[in-house]
Amino acid sequence: IIDLALLFVAIGLFYLSKYSVNKKILTFFTFAFAIQIFADTAHTYLLSKGKYVPGGIIDPLWILPLLMIGLAAIYARNYSDETVETVFITKQEYDIFPYLGAFVLFISIMLQNKTQTLGTLRIGLFLVMVMITIRQITMLKVNRNLLRRLLIKNEELAKSEERYRHLIEISPNAITVDIDEKIVFMNKAGLDLLGTESLEKIIGESVYDFVDINHFQITQFRRQKASENNEFIERYEYPIKRFDGQMIYVESRVAKINYNGEKAYLAVTQDVTYRKKSEEIIKQMAYFDELTGLPNRAMFHKQIIEQIENARDNNSQAAVLFIDLDRFKLINDTMGHSFGDVFLKNVSKRMVQILDQDGMIYRFGGDEFCVFLEKADQKKATMVAQKIIDGFSEKFYIENREFYSTPSIGISFYPKDGDDEDSLIKHADMAMYKAKRHGGNNYQLYTNVLSLENSSKMEMENAIRKAIVNQEFLIHYQPKVNLYNGDLIGLEALIRWKHPNWGLVSPLQFISIAEETGLINPIGQWILQEACMQLKKWHNVGFSTLCMAVNISPRQFQDEHFINMVKNVLQEIQLDPKYLQLEITESVMNNMKESLNILCELKQLGVKISIDDFGTGYSSLSYLKYLPIDEIKIDKSFVDDIHTNKKDEAIVEAIIDMGHHLQVNVTAEGIETEQQYLILKEHRCHVGQGYFFSKPLPSAEVEQLFY
Ligand code: C2E
Ligand code: MG
Ligand code: MG
Repeated sequence: IIDLALLFVAIGLFYLSKYSVNKKILTFFTFAFAIQIFADTAHTYLLSKGKYVPGGIIDPLWILPLLMIGLAAIYARNYSDETVETVFITKQEYDIFPYLGAFVLFISIMLQNKTQTLGTLRIGLFLVMVMITIRQITMLKVNRNLLRRLLIKNEELAKSEERYRHLIEISPNAITVDIDEKIVFMNKAGLDLLGTESLEKIIGESVYDFVDINHFQITQFRRQKASENNEFIERYEYPIKRFDGQMIYVESRVAKINYNGEKAYLAVTQDVTYRKKSEEIIKQMAYFDELTGLPNRAMFHKQIIEQIENARDNNSQAAVLFIDLDRFKLINDTMGHSFGDVFLKNVSKRMVQILDQDGMIYRFGGDEFCVFLEKADQKKATMVAQKIIDGFSEKFYIENREFYSTPSIGISFYPKDGDDEDSLIKHADMAMYKAKRHGGNNYQLYTNVLSLENSSKMEMENAIRKAIVNQEFLIHYQPKVNLYNGDLIGLEALIRWKHPNWGLVSPLQFISIAEETGLINPIGQWILQEACMQLKKWHNVGFSTLCMAVNISPRQFQDEHFINMVKNVLQEIQLDPKYLQLEITESVMNNMKESLNILCELKQLGVKISIDDFGTGYSSLSYLKYLPIDEIKIDKSFVDDIHTNKKDEAIVEAIIDMGHHLQVNVTAEGIETEQQYLILKEHRCHVGQGYFFSKPLPSAEVEQLFY
């Protein structure tokens, strides 16, 4: 009977081991009991057959179970006392049935068998009853314990649920739960985000109801993608429309959850409008020019790479137009930077207007702009360039004044002139300088011939620096003649550059770069010294009435050391200032106040002032009367057509009249023919200069004309 009981225990333990973390310990027990039962059974069998011999193989089998139980005990020490509970929830009322059956069996056997002797069966039954009762009592105890624990757990669960609910309610993030994309829960922050107080308006609605219609598909796609992951990893952004109509940007994360037993999605959403706006601003700052609002150089680089790729794929041409404003520096220098800024804004607006749909315009910085033309051959590119030049022929009105601006445009083509953005820009830039050297207000195509024409700005600048050091500059002198009696009045000093490779370089080709780089100051000083020295020599040999005219660039004129420099040169050479004539351009009048001061100081020195290229500048003639000037030089462009164009003749006549009126000398430049000379004389122009009398010549040659 005891062995049977052990068998029950062994089987019981075996099954229990399935649910226990102490599986190994219970297995040890199971085996221990099994061996015990086996040993007992074998012993009983051998004994009944009379074959049992003490000290046989059965005996050690009794010790083995004890060893195993001991082993289990050692093993158990390494384990924490945590056990996994197996909960069998059964109704206690039904528990009683098996015991009831056993009890009935016990009573009936007791009563049926009237013999008073304690039969084996009765003892067995009695023991079974006792054991069953003991088991029942322990089971009840265990059950009650489990039940109590369950209740505590339930309570804890309710508390933590409460806590979570609270957390969700006070969360600053919008939290939404949806089943099959229909909203079933939304917290307060969610309602705030949508700008409503009523939950009824929300419950049952689709999660996409508030998504901006244009972003519906992409949002749906992103949400589905994000929800594939269970851990709130993927974020997705989209714009939504609030109840008040306002558009805001939100960012969501979504995860699968179980909501009241159903498969649902929990979304946590945040308002990121502010961040989005900042990003927008940063992007704007990085890719757009602050002053003009045009896309900038960085944007150009970014887009041109894509465009070149496109052109490559489609096997098409493309063009880059590099645009630089002529004489913008002058406006900036004479009118101040804030005016320059306004000017640039106006120019940008005009550019956008002119280009319209033709291409995209970018501001490269300063007065440099770039245009990219897709699918553009030479015909299209030059057409656009001409359109830009034509568009600039109209004046700008800024602060109630009229201004002209002209562009110089360089063009390079993909793939002919370069197949990457750097070479295309560089070559368009080089072509632009070529346009500058051609006098501005024109366009030039890049040609890959190595020459002065194609030298880059930097090469040019370096060459000018070298020229100063190597003394590559020289001066030619052009006579100024009295138109009435043919007398030589004076000479104009005109710079020449003899470059070792490029030959004789015209001032038109390098003066603007020298001005831009400031190199004009040392060059200008050298010319002044050289020309004054030459004049002094001529005075000393008897031509003591000759005057010398020296061109002064606006940049020099504004240099703070300029007046002192002139003074020093005159003193050093001991030249009477009245023989020196400084030719300035009309543009200095843009900044009347400052210019007037400088002019007055120069006047005090005793030098003469003349306005060169008169009629081409931006100035208003009415200012002339306020300036202490001695001479105006009518620009060659008016003289050119004086004999064919009545309008030009009228202009020249008016300028001469005004000169007389203001009591200043009037000199006509660029007289090439006798006809021009006669007309000018007829209009009482006193002095003339031009190829008709003489080209600019080196000092030795011009001397021949003195006699
Ligand atoms: P500018 O001061 O108006 O000089 C007159 C220009 O017209 C000179 O060109 C002269 O060679 C040219 N010229 C004179 N008569 C005739 C003619 O009958 N027909 C034609 N087609 N041209 C004639 P150049 O020497 O090439 O100088 C160009 C400009 O470069 C000058 O215009 C002046 O603004 C500037 N420049 C020349 N030398 C200097 C200088 O030393 N300093 C500065 N700052 N500028 C200079
Ligand atoms: Mg001149
Ligand atoms: Mg001139």
